Amino acid sequence: MTTIAWGTDALQSVPAGFLTTDWRPASTGATFEVFDPATEEPIASVPDCGPADALAALDAAAEAAPVWARTTLRERADVLHRLYDAMLADKERLAQLLTLEVGKTITEARGEVLYAADYVRWYAEEAVRPHGRSTVAPNGQHHIVTVAEPVGPCLLITPWNVPLAMAARKVAPAVAAGCTAVLKPAELTPLTSLVFGELLLRAGAPPGVLSVVTTSRPAEVSGPLLADPRLRKVSFTGSTDVGRMLLEQSGRRVLRTSMELGGNAPFLVFDDADAEVAVREAMIAKMRLGGQSCVAANRFLVADGIADAFVGAFAERMAAIVVGPPGHEDTELGPLVDHRAVEKVHRLVDDAVAKGAVVVAQAPIPDGPGHYVAPTVIDHVPADADILREEVFGPVAAIRRFGTEAEAVAAGNDSEHGLAAYVISRDAERVRRVAAGLQSGMVGINRGLVSDVAAPFGGVKQSGLGREGGPEGLHEYLQFKYLSSPAF
Ligand code: NAD
Repeated sequence: MTTIAWGTDALQSVPAGFLTTDWRPASTGATFEVFDPATEEPIASVPDCGPADALAALDAAAEAAPVWARTTLRERADVLHRLYDAMLADKERLAQLLTLEVGKTITEARGEVLYAADYVRWYAEEAVRPHGRSTVAPNGQHHIVTVAEPVGPCLLITPWNVPLAMAARKVAPAVAAGCTAVLKPAELTPLTSLVFGELLLRAGAPPGVLSVVTTSRPAEVSGPLLADPRLRKVSFTGSTDVGRMLLEQSGRRVLRTSMELGGNAPFLVFDDADAEVAVREAMIAKMRLGGQSCVAANRFLVADGIADAFVGAFAERMAAIVVGPPGHEDTELGPLVDHRAVEKVHRLVDDAVAKGAVVVAQAPIPDGPGHYVAPTVIDHVPADADILREEVFGPVAAIRRFGTEAEAVAAGNDSEHGLAAYVISRDAERVRRVAAGLQSGMVGINRGLVSDVAAPFGGVKQSGLGREGGPEGLHEYLQFKYLSSPAF
């Protein structure tokens, strides 16, 4: 096994297996390798779990479910508070692992650890808030009491781009609600999820409350779980195509589902915008996670009156981005996660250029190994370019120009997705109108960042079902029992 000096301690501390009553390897002894996107070298091998392991994890979740459901709200909150403290104490180790497995810069990785820990803290605080209610029926003759109960054992499936934050955004509300869970991280990035599971165990969650099942064959693990009557819910974050398949399988057993799927965010810049705000927030909306984010701005729609000034300043900033090894403190952009991601970005840029788009900026990238892609701005992207319909998931900004506000809203809504949208304007009345007209679960107003632990994150149309974060995120793991009695 080749490994690199930087991050070696962090790698050696990854638990060697998945969690049920203790850490253990896959039942077959099989493993698969995890690669560093910056060197393309293997950095670790983890258990390659199969259906038997998945069902063993569900056995543990089902056995722990009644025990965990009976704990007091305060006991659950205390476990989450301890987990929060443990994540902060381990911030650097978790950040190094994120940089090694995802390729994101160490600065962004530290930010992800804090963001993930913040979900844990928020749900520790939310865990003790009451969710039932008591009222009288309209006819005055009956009393209505609702009791919030945990939905039961859950399957939580996470993507590779923000593996720790996505695990925390699911596990923390599940644990707060009194649910037990099987966490299946993405095969490209299982390491931080294994450490997160261990930290939860050490924070006092009984075995079985969370099992982390790593696998290179996700359908072989999810299939038997979705077919098992003990599983009560699936929460998935990933691509719309896989989400659709999981919804079909969940439908057979009428499972509760939460689906955080793909996006195609429009970033609308009106000619009354503050140009400096537009460029600053465009950089955040485009370049956070190197563009490998479901809420990354995928289509820049810019008013004719401001387009030349905006494109000039934006292109200058994009061309100056420092691309390099993600572990270096000065690096602003690391590699993409794998060669498929690089090929997809190149395909979408080539298609747009072949159809008439113009490349107006491109930053230099390092020679040698690593899945590096140049930050790129393409202007005058034609309406039939594939990049306007597919998530580019990389550091490429595609720009189209518009004349009227109505044209801008129509172009913004011209997508099967509706996760995030951004509006840059100084006209409060226009902002209200445009935000109301956009078919989107979230709208950033003069901001290129919408994620917040206290806010309901999620989409409309084919971007998903349900919400994560905020009180809404806890409700995804609760079911309400209604008790009816004669009025007191
Ligand atoms: P993906 O759909 O390929 O994989 C997501 C997860 O599903 C992984 O754990 C993977 O192992 C698993 N998976 C893949 N095929 C499966 C199958 N047949 N059965 C069961 N599980 C399966 O997505 P990805 O490439 O890891 O992530 C990128 C996508 O995720 C993008 O579309 C992005 O927009 C989306 N995303 C959405 C959000 C959100 O909150 N809406 C957040 C992050 C990423």
